[in-house]
Amino acid sequence: MNKKLTTNVEVKFLGAAGTVTGSCYLISHPQGKFLIDCGLFQGAKALRELNYQPFPFDARSIDCVLLTHAHVDHSGLIPKLINAGFDGPIFATSGTRDLLTYMLPDSGYIQESEVERLNRRNLRRGQKRVEPIYTKADGEEAVKNIVTTPYDTWFEPSPGVRARLWNAGHILGSASIEIEVDSDERPIKMLFSGDIGPQEKAFHDVPDAPTDLDYLFMESTYGDRDREDLTLEARRELLKKELLEGLEAGGNILIPAFAVERTQELLYDIGLLLKDKDLPPVTVYLDSPLAIRATEVFEMHAETLHETERRGGLFRNPKFKFINRAEDSKALDRFTSGAIIIAASGMCEAGRIRYHLKANLWRPQSTVLFVGFQAPGSLGAMLQAGNKVVRIHGEEVAVRARIRKIDAYSAHADQQELVQWASQRMPVKRGIFLTHGEVMAQATLRDHLVAHGCDASLIFTPRLDETVVLSLKGKVHSALTNPRLEDQAIITQDWQNEYAAFLVDLSNALRELPNDFTRHRALKDLQSFLERGKNGKNG
Ligand SMILES: [Zn+2]
Repeated sequence: MNKKLTTNVEVKFLGAAGTVTGSCYLISHPQGKFLIDCGLFQGAKALRELNYQPFPFDARSIDCVLLTHAHVDHSGLIPKLINAGFDGPIFATSGTRDLLTYMLPDSGYIQESEVERLNRRNLRRGQKRVEPIYTKADGEEAVKNIVTTPYDTWFEPSPGVRARLWNAGHILGSASIEIEVDSDERPIKMLFSGDIGPQEKAFHDVPDAPTDLDYLFMESTYGDRDREDLTLEARRELLKKELLEGLEAGGNILIPAFAVERTQELLYDIGLLLKDKDLPPVTVYLDSPLAIRATEVFEMHAETLHETERRGGLFRNPKFKFINRAEDSKALDRFTSGAIIIAASGMCEAGRIRYHLKANLWRPQSTVLFVGFQAPGSLGAMLQAGNKVVRIHGEEVAVRARIRKIDAYSAHADQQELVQWASQRMPVKRGIFLTHGEVMAQATLRDHLVAHGCDASLIFTPRLDETVVLSLKGKVHSALTNPRLEDQAIITQDWQNEYAAFLVDLSNALRELPNDFTRHRALKDLQSFLERGKNGKNG
């Protein structure tokens, strides 16, 4: 192998820096290079385009990858890495491996379908064909390179490196990764948090990790948010209330849910409510092949799931119907009332939930119950914001349904829990890097850590593609050369989503004008405004 030797230990932030997706750290050390996570960028278009660009490193020079967990924003570029020439082992827990068995092929399938749609459009516009980032088959192949690793056990992923996985309490199989890398003086001790779970969580123990570190790399997703702390029972009570009110309203209840973890939490809670006759015998349709596979993985790992009540199976109930085939999914839209339909995607950006929304949103009796975070600009966020018309598959759909949400389901630690987790890691002698959070969340968490006694000079908020030299003495040096995004601000602004929302607003506003003449005038005014903009005369 042709390896460039460095005497420094360096970490390059290749994703989830100032944003929450695309997690990837490149660690270069005297004896080689490895990655922690290799995640897909999601959300704003400028970020998603990074998925199509070549990696800013030589994939063949990477010795191994260590994965914190199965979410695709942490693992979804693994097949691309292999296609680019990486042929080393990928270390992960067995839970992560079993989830990825379905999630990576599913992600490949999504890439293929998105590109197919794009190519149909490009063909019409006379533009070039594009290739998918990777295919379903690539996803299936990639899983074979995973080497499973138990929690709490040191292992040597590559020469000069020792690693140990800790329960992160985030999703099935999730881990924080402790690393020791040999350096000139003594091994450097670091910890990569991965995503950290909350204190009160179904199925998993509270997050755990070592103390006494040189460097800490920690997530800050909810660095600026505190949730009301609810017990699992109180949360189930809240779900019961929402479901009863939804059934009372006389329509169907749609629950957009993420396939992994959230769906299983819902099935578990609804199963208990049905068993205790807290709900009438309502049929629950799980309409997502990926969620069904993920549920099977949870069943395989039932022994590791920490639950006080496991009365007769965690996720099975005679009233649960698992829908695999697309035609059975379509048939669900014949029902106009009394069904609970759980379908992905969780933010309504893709998947079967969009068909069900189209079939149910216009009915005032219907309920859409959100149980997860809705990213700004997503269809889910627009519904939550109270938009009266939304666009689905290019059509305008009136929103008359009841839009409800439960905030108590989360796989992430909130601000207070992040501060507590960080405090328990002390002392961290050399540096704390806040990653996996929007800029505001990073900044707020930083202030809170300082207020809790952290030395402000030790806390860093790295930018995408920044490199830091991890020394054991002196100042921590960092450099930003050839960043892939010139301006990080574009991460948070997505004109495409704003445009979609604007189109709906525009058509509403035009409809509300008194007559065609005023509509004509308004459009003319808008046109001349845009003309002036083109000539640089506005503002
Ligand atoms: Zn995650």
